Amino acid sequence: MSAGNNILELLKELPSTVKLVAVSKFMPNELILEAYNAGQKDFGENRPQELSRKIAELPSDIRWHFLGHLQTNKIKMIIDGVTLIHSADSLKLISEIGKEAEKRGLVKDILIQQHISCESTKQGFALGEMEEAAAFARSVSGVRVCGVMGMATFTDDQEQVRKEFRGLRATFDRLKSTIFSDCAYFEHISMGMSGDFNIAVEEGSNIVRVGSRIFGSRY
Ligand SMILES: *Cc1c(COP(=O)(O)O)cnc(C)c1O
Repeated sequence: MSAGNNILELLKELPSTVKLVAVSKFMPNELILEAYNAGQKDFGENRPQELSRKIAELPSDIRWHFLGHLQTNKIKMIIDGVTLIHSADSLKLISEIGKEAEKRGLVKDILIQQHISCESTKQGFALGEMEEAAAFARSVSGVRVCGVMGMATFTDDQEQVRKEFRGLRATFDRLKSTIFSDCAYFEHISMGMSGDFNIAVEEGSNIVRVGSRIFGSRY
């Protein structure tokens, strides 16, 4: 199987309302180009250095998504080339993204990351912090909050995963009906990876971030 075929298969499986982000971290340019040549335009990376190199080397009509923990001192490296930052996970980061964007006369699209898994290693705001984070982010003029993002626990327990996605969906609905009730652009729920995107889509995801299912194992 090639990355290009895998893209075409996935697009057949996914409802047309769900955006596929091909997560190309650690992958060489030639594999990314295979997916690109199959029509894929949205790619995701989680390391600023690697992303900025790939932005320079690969076609300019690729839309790059940033998915990983972002240190504030690395914002400059990626802000110009990135379409959507999925992983806004602290008030400081949101505020700094806003500042860097304003310096450039931009408004940067972000998603607020909620910690939905039982693992302590995955970043994001706790459920109880989401409202404050969202209200704060809405007040930052250099960012536009387009929705929420989360990563489920890495487990075979599908009911656990479903419960976590359902929780993120509930957060989205709550914010959409309150803080962002007048914001058509608040519309994205980024959830689901290679192992769990089917459940995520059933629970309301409209952006899935799929890596190994397209490009093979990273290890
Ligand atoms: C690596 C990564 C993915 C893709 O993971 P796969 O299991 O390879 O599909 C999705 N989201 C984030 C935030 C990631 O870091």
